[in-house]
Amino acid sequence: MSDSTQVLDETALLDRIQAAEGAGRDILDAATREVIGRAPVQDISDVDAAVARAKAAQPGWEARGHDERIALLMKTADAIDANAEALARLLSREQGKPLNGPNARFEVGACSGWLRATAATVLEPQVVVDDGEVHAEMHYRAVGVVGAIGPWNWPMMIGIWQIAPALRMGNTVVVKPSENTPLSVLAMLSVMNDVLPADVLIGVSGDREVGARLAAHPNIDKVMFTGSTATGRKIIESSAGNLARLTLELGGNDAGIVLPGADPKAIAQDLFWGAFINTGQTCAALKRLYVHDSIYNEVVDALKDVVEQTPMGNGLDEKNVLGPLQNKAQFDIVARLVDDARANGGRIVTGGAPASELGELFYQPTLVADVADGVALVDEEQFGPVLPIIRYSDVEEAIASANQLEFGLGASVWGDRDEARKIATRIQSGTVWINSHGGVHPMIPFGGVKGSGYGLEFGVEGLKSVAVPQIING
Ligand code: NAD
Repeated sequence: MSDSTQVLDETALLDRIQAAEGAGRDILDAATREVIGRAPVQDISDVDAAVARAKAAQPGWEARGHDERIALLMKTADAIDANAEALARLLSREQGKPLNGPNARFEVGACSGWLRATAATVLEPQVVVDDGEVHAEMHYRAVGVVGAIGPWNWPMMIGIWQIAPALRMGNTVVVKPSENTPLSVLAMLSVMNDVLPADVLIGVSGDREVGARLAAHPNIDKVMFTGSTATGRKIIESSAGNLARLTLELGGNDAGIVLPGADPKAIAQDLFWGAFINTGQTCAALKRLYVHDSIYNEVVDALKDVVEQTPMGNGLDEKNVLGPLQNKAQFDIVARLVDDARANGGRIVTGGAPASELGELFYQPTLVADVADGVALVDEEQFGPVLPIIRYSDVEEAIASANQLEFGLGASVWGDRDEARKIATRIQSGTVWINSHGGVHPMIPFGGVKGSGYGLEFGVEGLKSVAVPQIING
């Protein structure tokens, strides 16, 4: 850590980023519904000003060269680590995810970890032809100004996934956090900006029209977007105007297939976290589980045991590892899908109702058995603490079910590794995990197919996606 790294508490962090008294919008604690602070609500003219500043700063940032940018990014990781606990507490309150478990502290740790790993990733020029007559090389240059538009479920970590490679390659970045979770992202940017030069990383906090303006801005060269498929389509339309390159990480409805012969008790814990990580509000969570008839009841029972032993509640309480939904709209989607599944013959194994005693946005962790494809809880993305479990008897049926939706983000196969790897090649998704679900790694490319978007993040491929190739021929 550099000597100059500042260490702030939660109040000092908030004071840096809040709107003035009487301005902005109150942001509520997802668990208690108390006001945390006031987020600035900026407008289209603020986007224009931010893009102008970022454009002016970009050539100087690129000219610093890789080594200097790597050193500065490493320092931003140190600054995040130094402020980790205050950032995690703010994130926990704003997003709802508990401090413990694979949640707020984990997310803040992933931010500094990803910054370091991305800073250390090397993208060398490639010699494409060298035959004695022709010598041609492909180099990777910065694209220019990157617009980074993010969601509310993993707001800081997904922000870093967009920011780290973009800065690493010499781009400047304008960040538009979700209007549901702006404070944690603005706080993180503020900490990073203690070590970065002016105007290479700028946050603009506002509503959907701010995102729309950023995506459509004539001086935006690349949009990194993570969010819903519906918004992704709008961003594709706006790219017809500015020809911005796009990386689109959109929705998912990941299937898991449990093969005959899998050990229900041995896999139950990993199945649970695959589905319920971040209280189910995760793009690549396991959202529909297909289990072979021969072990169906055992898998349902083993999962029920894990669900019923997992504490839910206010995220600042150290014992909890599941929290509330982040917002009322998402809570309503979850409640509607469970009620509809019940009305369509689904068997509620555990949960199945709001956990109102914990707070307005809590929903009991829920397993719904004996549902089938065609029920909305299976076909739509629930994005909450609910897992439908579907019985199958022929693995061909399960593969067909996994592939039948518009989404293609992730999937998993559980059981014999060789058998599972064969099935993996037949699944239409960007990632297939074997005997786990949802793990990401800064060196392993991640991205969707079909309605889950296009473009890759992470590793060398991730650096290429925020660069433009330039051929040097001669
Ligand atoms: P959303 O699409 O509603 O919003 C995402 C962001 O886009 C917000 O910052 C919003 O203000 C902005 N926005 C809204 N309209 C816009 C427009 N016309 N142009 C540009 N920006 C605009 O998504 P959400 O509700 O915040 O996130 C939940 C969704 O995100 C889920 O579907 C989830 O699966 C998906 N998600 C995907 C990944 C992934 O990596 N594939 C990760 C997390 C979340």
